Amino acid sequence: MSEFTVKILSIEKITHDVNKIKIERPVGYNFIPGQAADVSINTQKLKNEKRPFTFTGLSEWNNLEFIIKSYKDHNGVTRKIGELKPNDELIISDPWGAIRYKGKGTFIAGGAGITPFIAILRELNNKNKLAGNVLFFSNKTEKDIILKNELYDMLGNNFINLLTREKNKDYYFGRIDEAFLRTRIPDINQNFYVCGPEDFVQNINSILLKLGAKTDSIVFEK
Ligand SMILES: Cc1cc2nc3c(=O)[nH]c(=O)nc-3n(C[C@H](O)[C@H](O)[C@H](O)COP(=O)(O)OP(=O)(O)OC[C@H]3O[C@@H](n4cnc5c(N)ncnc54)[C@H](O)[C@@H]3O)c2cc1C
Repeated sequence: MSEFTVKILSIEKITHDVNKIKIERPVGYNFIPGQAADVSINTQKLKNEKRPFTFTGLSEWNNLEFIIKSYKDHNGVTRKIGELKPNDELIISDPWGAIRYKGKGTFIAGGAGITPFIAILRELNNKNKLAGNVLFFSNKTEKDIILKNELYDMLGNNFINLLTREKNKDYYFGRIDEAFLRTRIPDINQNFYVCGPEDFVQNINSILLKLGAKTDSIVFEK
């Protein structure tokens, strides 16, 4: 795999623990919405600490964009990423990953698992092809919802938010479980896109299969 050293152009806090990071785009560097890259911070100490992050920008933008949640209570790479400044450097690999759009369907995301869907939904919106797609987005509390306004603007009533740890009259309260999916999915013969923590993905996939979804209709990072 090739590696590219790129400068950070801007870093902006978009929730209490999530940053939007714009970086230079290497010449000829292309990705398919949904794909990720292995990323490390270009310092002697950290350059071999690679972690996967997903491109959230449009494929035709001049710059690349990541949206990265920092685990501040843990001395890992994401905490260090949250402390970076413009002109600091990242090293990115070639793009990789299994998540890509293959037709209208239901997107089901948990927390930072929204990132591949941001790229896909922005691209569809840009091409006026978003109609008919639905997003279920699960977060702990309202302040954890990434790009809430942009997602509402793009999807309107097809953007359904669930909170698992805060009761709020504007949101569903509870996890995305079998009862929720049974009532919210009118036709199981469609595409499903699932991304989030590993146990979230396993749990949602097994419910979808139980409800009759076909194995090859479920897109997720394996
Ligand atoms: C294909 C793919 C794409 C991804 N894309 C994105 C993206 O676009 N944006 C994004 O934000 N994330 C994304 N992730 C997740 C991201 O890669 C991880 O959050 C990151 O690798 C964590 O690195 P770390 O060094 O901070 O944590 P690590 O040290 O690697 O720890 C891994 C995980 O363990 C947990 N953990 C371990 N120890 C502690 C502790 N003491 N306290 C609290 N938590 C702890 C954290 O949940 C952490 O995520 C993606 C993951 C994959 C597989």
